Amino acid sequence: MTGFESVLDQKQPIRLLRTLLHKKTIPHAFLFTGMEGVGKRTTAAIFAMACNCTGNKDENFLEGGKVPGENNHFKKNKPIQKNDPCGHCRSCRKILSGNHPDIIRIEPSGPFIRIAQIRALYHILSMKPYEARRRVVIISEAQAMNPEAGNALLKILEEPPDQTTLILTAIQTSDLLPTIVSRCHHIRFRPIPPKSIESILIEKQGFAPDAAKILGKMANGSFSKALSMKQSNWVNRRNWLMHCLESFPSMQISSLLAFAEKLSRNKETLSESLELIQSWLRDLIVYRYDSEKIINNDLTENIRQASHSFTVQSLLSKMDAVQTAQKNIQGNTNLNVKLIMEILVMRLADRLC
Ligand SMILES: [Zn+2]
Repeated sequence: MTGFESVLDQKQPIRLLRTLLHKKTIPHAFLFTGMEGVGKRTTAAIFAMACNCTGNKDENFLEGGKVPGENNHFKKNKPIQKNDPCGHCRSCRKILSGNHPDIIRIEPSGPFIRIAQIRALYHILSMKPYEARRRVVIISEAQAMNPEAGNALLKILEEPPDQTTLILTAIQTSDLLPTIVSRCHHIRFRPIPPKSIESILIEKQGFAPDAAKILGKMANGSFSKALSMKQSNWVNRRNWLMHCLESFPSMQISSLLAFAEKLSRNKETLSESLELIQSWLRDLIVYRYDSEKIINNDLTENIRQASHSFTVQSLLSKMDAVQTAQKNIQGNTNLNVKLIMEILVMRLADRLC
């Protein structure tokens, strides 16, 4: 990671940030929203580097100093690229290694960002930066701020310190206090297109084209999700799940319950397993209308056979069962995971209406 070009398929956010850097109109606070794994944190770090880079531009470019030949030179020679960080100067290297004293990162401690973390930040911000031209505070997963932390942050945003920019990242604005959102320059990050994820998996991660194509579609626009699936041996797990689903009609109730228990025990992979089941059910429907559009295209023959074993109505009902289970696991339900899985498996096996 060095310049903005390393951020995958986020043309609009990058164009906007480059323009702000070029015009030297850096807001005191940004809010980057978008799903997990689309490049929000990477972009925030590159932006912090760009604000402080001394490598490939005039030293004073963020201090109101005039860039030599600005009016003509920049227009002719892709001006915006000039504001990308070099990745090699002392400042860039410190930020890349996480050792810059004025680039402050705040992340949830456990499930929350707590008021103590924001109070400590308030204290740091009351002092001048050590060495940065512009101090940058990156608050990741800002939706994890509890109300007290949110209100403490609001005080900082109401009287922002000089030479400082805060960058909050969150999934969506509705997860934050409206008073925080209204004080930030909001930039939306879009899901990454499957084709882009597929290309990077092949070029940078050494994936076989077939596997990259499936993973590109399975990742739902999140590159980090594609990488985590790669690490979780998803192909074997998917094949095992598909095999079990195909065997459901002939399975005894006791075997179905054992399957449900096995799913519920593997908490780290449970949500991914549910998505794999969902993708399978989706493919069984899609195959009937356009066989080219299935996700699991290495299993076309299995999908062809299975798609005729169910009605579309029955498949939609099974997909609904998976979605309900996903919501119940994420939400504040009193049901335990094992029970949720038992209900799901019974619905998938048509043993429960
Ligand atoms: Zn640099």
